[in-house]
Amino acid sequence: MEFNESFTGVVSEIVDSTKDDEFLRGLALDIFYRNLPSEISKKIKSIHNNFSFNYRAKKHYQCQYRGCSDESCYSHDISENAFLKNLCRGDSEVVILKRNMKGNPIFSMGEYIHKRNATNFPGYCAKHDLDLFSDVEDGNQKLDDYFVNKQCLRSTRREIFEVECQINMGSDFVKTVLSENDENNILIIDIVGNFNRKIDALKKRRLNLLDLHEKIMRGIESKDYLVEFRELDAGKKGFCFSACLDLTLDEDEEECILYFYNLEFKNESKAFVCSLKNSLSRGYLDNFISNSLLNFSKIIFQKKMNLVFSKEFFEKISEGVKLILNNEPELYSINNIEASLISQDLFS
Ligand SMILES: [Zn+2]
Repeated sequence: MEFNESFTGVVSEIVDSTKDDEFLRGLALDIFYRNLPSEISKKIKSIHNNFSFNYRAKKHYQCQYRGCSDESCYSHDISENAFLKNLCRGDSEVVILKRNMKGNPIFSMGEYIHKRNATNFPGYCAKHDLDLFSDVEDGNQKLDDYFVNKQCLRSTRREIFEVECQINMGSDFVKTVLSENDENNILIIDIVGNFNRKIDALKKRRLNLLDLHEKIMRGIESKDYLVEFRELDAGKKGFCFSACLDLTLDEDEEECILYFYNLEFKNESKAFVCSLKNSLSRGYLDNFISNSLLNFSKIIFQKKMNLVFSKEFFEKISEGVKLILNNEPELYSINNIEASLISQDLFS
């Protein structure tokens, strides 16, 4: 993995040469991303093949529920039986957004998959997955504090996995870069330094999330719930979404964590937002609610890999909105007009 003439090199050249013109910078970057030189495209695909796919295998992870060291099974963030099956009509297929590995790997595209493979991740062991969630799996639960706290428990566990996956990928990436490049090269020192700082922050975040997971569990056991929710007035049926957002800053004295859901219950689609019961998280929730569907659409864009559509719904989404959703959130920001287009197609 050499970094001369690389993706990072071209991007920083564009950023340097368009310092005073944000519009021009956006345009130049967009042209570069859409017309990736095949060498760079191949390199990105190989990084994803080597790093992303391998690191999502369950053999690398343990349950960790109250000290359990059994191997993870593929847990679902969104229950297959309670919700994902309501997206299927006659068959078991749903649509997710996935990186376009056959074309331009910077963008995603709709992929038709079996519902059992949507929103799953190496989480709890089979025993604890069953013990913890069999009572919210039958598809008849109501949107109440008990269900919401169990759902947030699951999403917190998924977030722990996502953080662990990034730590593992980042650590091995640094090792590979150092073994294949001159470690005294300024560019390499810069890349490795950046990665190491990110890895340290992720390790801290992992510990905070493990602590939060235990606190949510204790709240469920004592019925003194840690998480509260507000239902949103959102329309259409046909997709599921979940996201856990940790907005806590280093200087904050309490955690700021919110969860966002659109779930396909048996007879209706419900959108709701959850927050920890502390003033910081509640403040963010109030702010969010003031323009809820526009804000929800921005979060959906940021966490688009957590979207699961029914086939019928996906096919009805306009091409313009699909183009927006296919952009990579780490490279493209989303403006209010784009967010309101997403909102119209997904919620009105
Ligand atoms: Zn276990």
